Amino acid sequence: HLTAYLVLLLLQLIRASTLAGLRLQNTCAQTATVSKSVFNFELTEQQREFKATAGKFAREEVLPAVSPYDRTGEYPVPLIKTAWELGLMNSHIPEKCSGIGLGIFDACLIAEEIAYGCTGVQTAIENSSLGQMSVIIAGSEQQQKKYLERMTEEPLMCAYCVTEPGAGSDVAGIKTRAERKGDEYIINGQKMWITNGGKANWYFLLARSDSDPKTSANKAFTGFIVDADTPGIQVGRKEMNMGQRCFYTRGITFEDVRVPKENVLLGEGAGFKIAMGAFDKTRPPVTAGATGLAQRALDEATKYALERKTFGKFIAEHQAVCT
Ligand SMILES: Cc1cc2nc3c(=O)[nH]c(=O)nc-3n(C[C@H](O)[C@H](O)[C@H](O)COP(=O)(O)OP(=O)(O)OC[C@H]3O[C@@H](n4cnc5c(N)ncnc54)[C@H](O)[C@@H]3O)c2cc1C
Repeated sequence: HLTAYLVLLLLQLIRASTLAGLRLQNTCAQTATVSKSVFNFELTEQQREFKATAGKFAREEVLPAVSPYDRTGEYPVPLIKTAWELGLMNSHIPEKCSGIGLGIFDACLIAEEIAYGCTGVQTAIENSSLGQMSVIIAGSEQQQKKYLERMTEEPLMCAYCVTEPGAGSDVAGIKTRAERKGDEYIINGQKMWITNGGKANWYFLLARSDSDPKTSANKAFTGFIVDADTPGIQVGRKEMNMGQRCFYTRGITFEDVRVPKENVLLGEGAGFKIAMGAFDKTRPPVTAGATGLAQRALDEATKYALERKTFGKFIAEHQAVCT
């Protein structure tokens, strides 16, 4: 009886594992078909070129030079200039504004490579794209020509002013006010954590233009382009971050700053959607930057594990590490 029972059990086990194997094979085959017909992870010639240029820049220009910038927090002007000369900045600017009009995935490839060298340099570059994106998705032809084209002519930065001391994730909680007076808006409020603050040539600014607290976020806020030299803008101290120390993050105060109505993006009340839309297109490269940083951390750890000995062996030779 026991033998018969064991044989039966064995047969059932074989059947179950065969079925599971078949199911797995089936799923793999389906996945392969789907990926064959829908996804193609092959890089184009142009993407390979950008990736190689960004990688070379990170390893040959950023890596050897960046330590003092990271230590002191000094803004890495020469590195930004080189990135601009190599065409690694402003990748989203459309061709009609003399840019190269690359897509989000292309920007991710570049960001990942530059972040391998330094995420401080990469964030300075990336957050300029965040400011530009508001104008790319919502700017009129004149606004785009005026504010985007100049960035392709010289290595200028711009910035995105949304966060405030009292509102970060909760963007709809911002308190900066924009009041219409004739053909101008008068802006009052305080922004915080503004990347490239003090280095930017112009700012995208989100302000509340409807004083009724019941008005929905989709109608209550307006997006403006503000020239950085407009009277009433005061740039605060540089914050010292725990990492990515060499780009500037600063508070910026707007005190009776007069902005012409021509600098409103899309129309009064459209600001919240613009601000969120700019995030949609520029947050993926931030994640790609984190991947570049992780790769660098892994490479540094591997290098160290292959040169440092503990207990008579290289760290890499200890069981938990080498597996
Ligand atoms: C290096 C750096 C650069 C930056 N650059 C810019 C810039 O250029 N322009 C700009 O406008 N802003 C910038 N910011 C600001 C950034 O966008 C905000 O820090 C971010 O939106 C978070 O806001 P907060 O810091 O006020 O955190 P809070 O919103 O106060 O959040 C605090 C914590 O609570 C969590 N939390 C919040 N809400 C919820 C919820 N509903 N459920 C669960 N958890 C929640 C958050 O995840 C976080 O961990 C920058 C910030 C940093 C650190």
